Amino acid sequence: MNQLTIHEAHQLLKTKKISSVELTKACLNRIHQVDSKVQALITVTENIALKQAHKADELIANGTNINALTGIPAIIKDNICTKGILTTCASKMLGNFVPPYNATVIDILNTCGAVFMGKANMDEFAMGSSTENSAMFTTHNPWDLNRVPGGSSGGSAAAVAVGEAIYALGSDTGGSIRQPAGFCSVTGLKPTYGSVSRYGLVAFASSLDQIGPLTQDANDCALVLNAIANFDDKDSTSVPYAKPDYNQCLNTDLKGLKVGVPKEYFVTGIQPEVETAIRTAIKKLEDLGAYVDWEVSLPHTLYALAVYYIIAPSEASANLARYDGVKYGFSYQDTGNMWQAMEKTRQYGFGDEVKRRIMLGTYALSAGYYDAYYLKAQKVRTLIRQEFDQAFEKYDVLITPTSPSIPFKIGEKTNDPIQMYLSDVCTLPINIAGLPAISIPAGFTDDLPIGMQIIAKPFAEETILKTAHAFQQITNWHKQKPAL
Ligand code: GLN
Repeated sequence: MNQLTIHEAHQLLKTKKISSVELTKACLNRIHQVDSKVQALITVTENIALKQAHKADELIANGTNINALTGIPAIIKDNICTKGILTTCASKMLGNFVPPYNATVIDILNTCGAVFMGKANMDEFAMGSSTENSAMFTTHNPWDLNRVPGGSSGGSAAAVAVGEAIYALGSDTGGSIRQPAGFCSVTGLKPTYGSVSRYGLVAFASSLDQIGPLTQDANDCALVLNAIANFDDKDSTSVPYAKPDYNQCLNTDLKGLKVGVPKEYFVTGIQPEVETAIRTAIKKLEDLGAYVDWEVSLPHTLYALAVYYIIAPSEASANLARYDGVKYGFSYQDTGNMWQAMEKTRQYGFGDEVKRRIMLGTYALSAGYYDAYYLKAQKVRTLIRQEFDQAFEKYDVLITPTSPSIPFKIGEKTNDPIQMYLSDVCTLPINIAGLPAISIPAGFTDDLPIGMQIIAKPFAEETILKTAHAFQQITNWHKQKPAL
């Protein structure tokens, strides 16, 4: 039962063939069975889940008009604020933080009658690509426990892959939904910047952060997006737009769809098996009637990594200035000196990668370097965005690998930040331009998953979901489950 998709479970709940309590217990059993090995969860909210499941069953029994998410178990990344439930960001700094309010997406899911199973592990403050930067523990890839699940939403992706919940929410600043989705063989969507409220998402890099779903297929992504994409006046970057019913765009006819394959995303150093799998997958779209241009060029892509590692740390250094040991979270008390207390709070509260980002960002923003680094990066950011705008005048979607490699071994890249940063080289440009993109399962090599990224212009999630759904109707990669 815990391997049902949202759309399957919804049908069974509606026709009373299963109850939400049964479904929730199946997921809880799975958590008890495998989470000691996978370590996807920081907090399990068993009692809350069972209470919500009972309530959902009452709604269904009363014939109340239920929606696609009513009674369906979900796992939430631990940087999304949940009222009364520990929200740690996988940091010592927020190790004891119980938010007094809900993120907007949590309020929405509550209204939908969702069932919250727990909070997922992640890289500290969402900084990382492997979940090894968590101050709690490292999550393991369910396809090979010696390998990373990707990051930073590694806990969310691993949890969905092993069936600890039917779906999860993650956040994506430079690839943190799509890269772990690719590594764990689930479907992960990063929506257009501004389409899903960031209110209550602990800020990392505010001009790049976006919440999105990790699910078992594109159809389920459409259902979650239908719920969570909403204008929110509590988020000043929220965009009011005419939201379509994403579930209605899922036909399988790709006739006339114009696909571009940008050659810069098949970078030097890409694993040959990844390239072969993605090219084979794109050919399947040709079979479905799409027109494919294999020779697109997006030359500014080459600068995206450099731009990201100026802009993201700069914004992070500003956002993380609030952790001073005074307002909330960890506080170093063992001194009578205020300045020393703040310094020690940050020294012991933050992990190495977070400190590295704060130092990079503070440096890039400092007088004398601001123009040379931050301003320059912002200018190149505009060029990257313009290049995408031009490409989308010709193509409906661009397709790339999600990541240049298959999941790497735990510990393999921890001593080499640049190597770690490179695992997001295909996903970062999309955040820089504020675009929507999905990662879907597109094959395996040596029993390890390969993800394919589908990108579209802002607010064209319909085109992405339709393309992904059509692909999933003629392939079975997304139905494969880890043996665990
Ligand atoms: N891996 C990238 C980083 O470390 C992206 C992280 C993210 O999307 N949150 O910043």
